[in-house]
Amino acid sequence: MVKYVAEPFKIKMVEPLKMTTREEREEKLKAANYNVFGLDSDDVYIDCLTDSGTGAMSDTQWAGMMAGDESYAGARGYRKLMKAVKDIFGYEFGQPVHQGRAAEQVLLPSYLKKGQKCVSNMHFDTTRGHVGLLGAKAIDIVVPEAKDTSTYLPFKGNMDTKRLEAYINEVGADQIGVIIMTITNNSAGGQPVSMENLRTTKAIADKHGIPMIIDAARYAENAHFIREREEGYQDKEIIDIVREMFSYAEAFTMSAKKDAIVNMGGLIGVKDSEELYIKVKGLTIPYEGFVTYGGLAGRDLEALSIGLYEGLDKDYLKYRVGQIEYLGGRLKELGVPFQYPVGGHAVFLDAKALLPHIPYYQFPGQALACELYLEAGIRACDIGSYLLDLDPETGEQLESEMEFTRLAIPRRVYTQAHFDVIAEALKNIKERASEIKGYEITWQAPVLRHFTAKLKPIE
Ligand SMILES: *Cc1c(COP(=O)(O)O)cnc(C)c1O
Repeated sequence: MVKYVAEPFKIKMVEPLKMTTREEREEKLKAANYNVFGLDSDDVYIDCLTDSGTGAMSDTQWAGMMAGDESYAGARGYRKLMKAVKDIFGYEFGQPVHQGRAAEQVLLPSYLKKGQKCVSNMHFDTTRGHVGLLGAKAIDIVVPEAKDTSTYLPFKGNMDTKRLEAYINEVGADQIGVIIMTITNNSAGGQPVSMENLRTTKAIADKHGIPMIIDAARYAENAHFIREREEGYQDKEIIDIVREMFSYAEAFTMSAKKDAIVNMGGLIGVKDSEELYIKVKGLTIPYEGFVTYGGLAGRDLEALSIGLYEGLDKDYLKYRVGQIEYLGGRLKELGVPFQYPVGGHAVFLDAKALLPHIPYYQFPGQALACELYLEAGIRACDIGSYLLDLDPETGEQLESEMEFTRLAIPRRVYTQAHFDVIAEALKNIKERASEIKGYEITWQAPVLRHFTAKLKPIE
């Protein structure tokens, strides 16, 4: 029996959920053209579409919202946030922005020129997008085990440092604008990066004179994994682990909608370079607004300063990652295939293994997402061939290496019983897996089609 880590909080405010019948859900899904992004959230019972901006704020954060100073310049919340940046990350300068991709838009031009390469353990989609907008090329050099869904490895999100060295020697250090370490590695399923790997990657970067920065969306979950799994860190405080992690970079971008537990917000940190900080301020003003609010309301700055600390609480982190591990453990008992071990924020169901009769061009990950909604009103999303667009040159459907259905778990929102509902739904789906049909697309946009495409089941 897997054990659930009980909540280190009690509930003061609730948000009612609507219960629907199978018939109603069949109608709603059809009306949404079998695209879960087309569903009204009111018709969803357990929403695991994303963990971004979907967390529940604490009473302290809400109190901070009330105390927010809405001054255009020099707001109190800004000073509080800068103090938190210094304290938690050990960085001299901070810059609030409205979300993670805005941090990328503001910071990355200082590192990347047209024609250069940007190397990462794995770029998140928006990071890849901004690298491309600057005319540079995003190169992922994650350890090969990240693509193996069944072997246990404590730090599957790591940079493959041997291949990194080889790549630098092949293309030349002057061709690489920056190295970005994404922690945890979102695109690899929220898999953590070890301290040892950050240290080694930094040493390689230094040797070749390449700057290194961190994409910090899940910095606290990563620190939790280091504390649990890496030798020598068991007795360290989370905040000390965070400080060491960030000591290996010279700047970071952060989507605060993840581990900082706010519904909207982002942050840039600059360790000590005043020159870089001046460039950051220079781009923040036209893109995001004056430096002391950076696209956020004063109350959001308060909630963010508080959330940065709440996300570091070790009992909270035990419970948070414990929820994902509980769901993974239940699925293991039931023989439902998923990426193992689970990451910090999501369970990636292996739709290819569960629905082997559905070929990639009939989108097994999407079929499973539809089935979860029909079965129990659960919303998940495809991370597989459906997510990939058509090949721009040939117009053919691209085949993804993996066919996943992602259950991303919002922070402090769902309880053990909700996870049991998800496990039960997957048990039922597994029992009738061979009857589940694939899908075809009847309409699609030329890029990022998965948000708006229309589909229909193949009879
Ligand atoms: C969410 C995320 C981003 C982008 O942040 P937004 O707040 O969605 O703009 C960038 N990198 C990683 C690793 C993320 O998870």
